[in-house]
Amino acid sequence: MCPRGARMLTGVGGLLETARMSCHCLLIEGADGLVLVDTGFGSDDVRNPKQLGRAVGALLRPSLHAADTAISQIRELGFDPNDVRHIITTHLDLDHTGGLPDFPDAQVHLLGIELEAGLHPSWSDRVRYLAAHWAHGPHWVQHSTGGEQWLGFDSVRILPGSDAEILLVPLLGHTHGHTGVAVKRGERCLLHCGDAYFHHGEIATPPHCPPGIKLVTAFDQVDGAARHGNVERLRELAQRHSGEVELICSHDASYLDGR
Ligand SMILES: [Zn+2]
Repeated sequence: MCPRGARMLTGVGGLLETARMSCHCLLIEGADGLVLVDTGFGSDDVRNPKQLGRAVGALLRPSLHAADTAISQIRELGFDPNDVRHIITTHLDLDHTGGLPDFPDAQVHLLGIELEAGLHPSWSDRVRYLAAHWAHGPHWVQHSTGGEQWLGFDSVRILPGSDAEILLVPLLGHTHGHTGVAVKRGERCLLHCGDAYFHHGEIATPPHCPPGIKLVTAFDQVDGAARHGNVERLRELAQRHSGEVELICSHDASYLDGR
């Protein structure tokens, strides 16, 4: 996404310069096929940008190119998109679900409360969800909060038969059923925090956050206290387990540069 105001949103660049914001997706190669975490914008969005609405076009200014979609990048890596058996969505905001129609046969895992919020949005939530992204009728797999503890966080183990150890880590507040996704790799773990935070400085010690991100996150949340509490807990996690857990979020493009 290329919103105006690089300095305000990323802390670097000019005030009117275009910011560079990613929509991070993860591809996990398991014994039983591929697992995709989040789908960003998809082929339908590229073909028909108007379906995203004028506000999204004007504010987020998504740069919609077929080559950037998850399905194209999966092909580019030499994989068959039909092998994507499972998708995990951190939440159903439209900048995370555009690729769902590109994988119509995949099972789509999420918290049940997020599915409920997305399928039956309140008046104030209507702008964030786009029903066209699930008009094809995805194979939803709903999960509940609670379950195991993982480093002080609730977690839900999914795909129990898979060799990839993947946990849903509820991080509520940005949306009603927002989750992080932890992927264990041996002794190390990658935690995709979705939109639980937007800028790496939010979980740094001491924390720092560009002013535009403070505004965006305050506006774009359903439970501010829960969201703030989660940012605090993630900062503590990043500090205490820096050698063990790597954290990324969806929209901080600096992670692409190997932060
Ligand atoms: Zn987002």
